[in-house]
Amino acid sequence: MILEIRKIGDPVLKQKAQKVDKVDSKIKRLVEDMIETMKFANGVGLAAPQVGEPLRVIVVDYENKPIAFINPEILEAEGETIDLEGCLSVPGIELKIKRYERIVFKAQDLNGKVKKYRAKGLLARVIQHEIDHLDGVLIVDRGITEEVGNNI
Ligand SMILES: [Zn+2]
Repeated sequence: MILEIRKIGDPVLKQKAQKVDKVDSKIKRLVEDMIETMKFANGVGLAAPQVGEPLRVIVVDYENKPIAFINPEILEAEGETIDLEGCLSVPGIELKIKRYERIVFKAQDLNGKVKKYRAKGLLARVIQHEIDHLDGVLIVDRGITEEVGNNI
């Protein structure tokens, strides 16, 4: 089922999302709907608060294959990279955002099993963006709106 994507100004986007206790059928259904919604919206990632569910669940599109991460948590991060980022909840704008270049993170899969992952580049960026949503952080809270001079 395609869900409604909440837009900036909706209080659910500013909320800290709750940890998922058990990966049950309700969570699996939510993940299915989130993947369908992400594809429909041509997004590369989606976090549960964006569809009105304040739960720590994200989906990302990895080389046209959707993957769900439950209770994702960054364990290690290094390097930095600045690039333009958009967000389905903040339509019509792109902002330069600084992210870690490489991350190691853990998350539960749809069987509830904890796994450790490594990501770099665009995938690492998308995962950091989606985890931000779980903490109520949007690109407008992180955007580099202006670049000034050379001496920074
Ligand atoms: Zn977003």
